[in-house]
Amino acid sequence: MADRLSAVKGMNDIVPPKSAAWEWFEQQVRELMRSYGYQNLRTPIVEYTPLFVRGIGEVTDIVEKEMYSFTDALNGEQLTLRPEGTAAVVRACVEHGLLYDGGKRLWYTGPMFRHERPQRGRYRQFHQVGAEALGFAGPDADVELILIARQLWSRLGLGDLITLEINCLGQADERARHRVDLIAYLEQHADQLDADARRRLHSNPLRVLDTKNPQMQAVVEAAPKLIDYLGAASLEHFNGVQNLLRAAGQPFAINPRLVRGLDYYNLTVFEWVTDRLGAQATVCAGGRYDGLIEQIGGKPAPACGWALGVERVLELLIEAGKSAPTSAPQAYAVLTSAELMPHVMPVCEALRLAGVQVQLHLGGGSMKSQMKKADASGARWALVFGEQELQDGRVGIKDLRGAQDDQQQRLIPLEPLQSLVSALL
Ligand code: ATP
Ligand code: MG
Repeated sequence: MADRLSAVKGMNDIVPPKSAAWEWFEQQVRELMRSYGYQNLRTPIVEYTPLFVRGIGEVTDIVEKEMYSFTDALNGEQLTLRPEGTAAVVRACVEHGLLYDGGKRLWYTGPMFRHERPQRGRYRQFHQVGAEALGFAGPDADVELILIARQLWSRLGLGDLITLEINCLGQADERARHRVDLIAYLEQHADQLDADARRRLHSNPLRVLDTKNPQMQAVVEAAPKLIDYLGAASLEHFNGVQNLLRAAGQPFAINPRLVRGLDYYNLTVFEWVTDRLGAQATVCAGGRYDGLIEQIGGKPAPACGWALGVERVLELLIEAGKSAPTSAPQAYAVLTSAELMPHVMPVCEALRLAGVQVQLHLGGGSMKSQMKKADASGARWALVFGEQELQDGRVGIKDLRGAQDDQQQRLIPLEPLQSLVSALL
């Protein structure tokens, strides 16, 4: 026997019945994005490597150690499986001139790839939904994005489990002044830093503040805070965000150590977090990235956005004991003899055209075993096709979910089909 092959470590199949929750979730997202006027954008899963190196930043976890990069064996090009969505969205907007007539509000969903240690809530292929507002400078865009996420939590019944943290990263010159003081401070306390932090002390000191190492909490707690270096314009933007959040009745906590793992952020950053998923607490994260469009070769324009981890949201649903609606068909068709199939199949086709979801029994078997399958399918109705009934132009229907005495079979004429359709819907 050939060796059994399995999926790549950290990359998951999404199989039924679990896939029903994914479909339901995607449906919620689609409706939600439409309700805010965000349009769908789809980009390839593979991009030229420099897009991510330039877009995400060289001294980040993603670019330093998480990217699946490879040389195309056929033409020697350097390619990378996308680790996130924003860089590609910006590339596509620039490439297609989508920003020529002002702002664009876009959303995407799909698989992302990062070479991380697989564990609960952390996979090597995972899925994100992202929303981006490009070409809008004001705090209203930041808050609109935050509110989209809030509506999603409330649609999913997760409103009580996810809270909002925000921070302001200011502008490059403000971060530069803070950086000088931060490096000096960290150098003074070098003996308390771990290897990772010492390595980043000069390349990306802000990221040192984001450490999850419990031994370093005291030293980062007392470090100079970026917020104390912000100028009037940055503070005004940050206050604008807070005022709009208050007006919308959205509670938030200011977390001065929230810096995000990607280099392209400025001004507002935010995370939606939960205490129900252990170490993988961030469900959705985002912020403003006013410099990225220019960095990727476009005309300078402000922008902001977020991305959420679909696996984490769905795990949270399970954790909270919420179940997604099942994907049962409305009717399950059984036949007393395989010979009837040429008559039954066209009826099922006609029912589907009329809007009824019908699962047709395949593979024969006794009436008893077929009715068991009908029941297990979750369908409300069994459609029972018998030889005599078909000759009489009729079909039996049975309510599988009704009270015991309602479960009598009723005979319904097949012509006109509308009477059967009405009985089933
Ligand atoms: P973390 O700090 O958990 O590594 P991150 O800062 O790398 O997250 P982002 O790049 O901001 O995450 O991605 C946005 C969201 O995508 C995260 O909040 C999370 O929900 C999800 N996500 C990120 N990496 C993974 C992964 N490896 N597996 C599953 N979900 C992920
Ligand atoms: Mg990460």
